[in-house]
Amino acid sequence: MSTIYNFNPGPAILPKEVLLEIKNNFLNWNHSKSSIIEISHRSSKFIEFTLQAEKNLRYILNIPENYYILFCHGGARGQFSAIPLNLTKKFIKPDYINSGYWSLCAAKEAKKYCNPNIINVRKFTQDNKVYIQSIQNWKVSYKNTYLHYCPNETIEGIEIFEEPFLKNKIIIGDFSSTILSRQINIDKYGMIYACAQKNIGPAGITLVIIRNDLLGSVSYQTPSILDYQLLAQSNSMLNTPSVFSWYVAGLVFKWIKELGGLDFIEKNNKKKARILYKYLHSTGFYKNYIVPINQSRMNITFHLQKKELTDLFVKMAEKNRLYGLKGHSLVGGIRASIYNAMPIKGIKHLINFMKFFEKKFG
Ligand SMILES: *Cc1c(COP(=O)(O)O)cnc(C)c1O
Repeated sequence: MSTIYNFNPGPAILPKEVLLEIKNNFLNWNHSKSSIIEISHRSSKFIEFTLQAEKNLRYILNIPENYYILFCHGGARGQFSAIPLNLTKKFIKPDYINSGYWSLCAAKEAKKYCNPNIINVRKFTQDNKVYIQSIQNWKVSYKNTYLHYCPNETIEGIEIFEEPFLKNKIIIGDFSSTILSRQINIDKYGMIYACAQKNIGPAGITLVIIRNDLLGSVSYQTPSILDYQLLAQSNSMLNTPSVFSWYVAGLVFKWIKELGGLDFIEKNNKKKARILYKYLHSTGFYKNYIVPINQSRMNITFHLQKKELTDLFVKMAEKNRLYGLKGHSLVGGIRASIYNAMPIKGIKHLINFMKFFEKKFG
């Protein structure tokens, strides 16, 4: 079987080393004589594994002791509800930054529980490129409340690298598609969260990292499985978690640690994105519509100047072992999701194909 390069936005590529480890240990996990998907989440072997996974994550993301790490159900969308349910009793009329599809989605869900103040920060330059206003110019409310934003808009390919500092605001970030791709200063945030299926592992668990003083003011009607306090008290085992997803996430944390942590990962990701954007800027045949400082390092979007060739591009790319490049239907065009596990070889292979395609049809 010849290798393919998986550019899917999520579920997405996972490290080969991790996949092989799963395969090799699948039927007899950790000498348990059963597979990982057949054992109790309360067995001592699995609990031991989760404690080590948490330790590794705390180490690679440099998470301070006063933050809980929770593994939740319900994906990132589940958090769109969990956040207002857990926090709006204390923080009234939260600010929701709108920078694209997912951040607006979070704001719309919050409307079911509160009255969010939605702030549009996505603007256009004179030559029609998208940019995000710098954080000090965000028109936030004067209220002492929380502010939700999404540092990487997965669908549009817009990333905000600037770290927020705003007086009287508890910052909450949906890091679903940028978590573990670069260093972040956790102590600038009240909470960050991410679904698993981009840079962490298979769908099924959702990572929440939350400062401990934010727990305990949950609204009365909140489902127990979305209650951060209950999840913290039960070590994220209020009910049966997705053991398999948690296990794979643990392997990915270990993989990152052994590679040299986020310093190494970030350097590698910068290099991968730089190569691809540099090529994009050198041709008129493909076009990215985002200003350089907001170009995503994880989801690189572009359009073909001849739009009618888009489907053919995707089809021929697949024949050349390049999978998952079709852009989201909302924005069209092409999207190359190049998460941590995408090797530089995959980027070079993509660029070679793009050159070939331009030569043939340009
Ligand atoms: C994928 C994604 C989501 C949705 O995640 P689900 O687990 O499918 O709910 C939300 N926000 C961002 C930024 C994403 O990339």
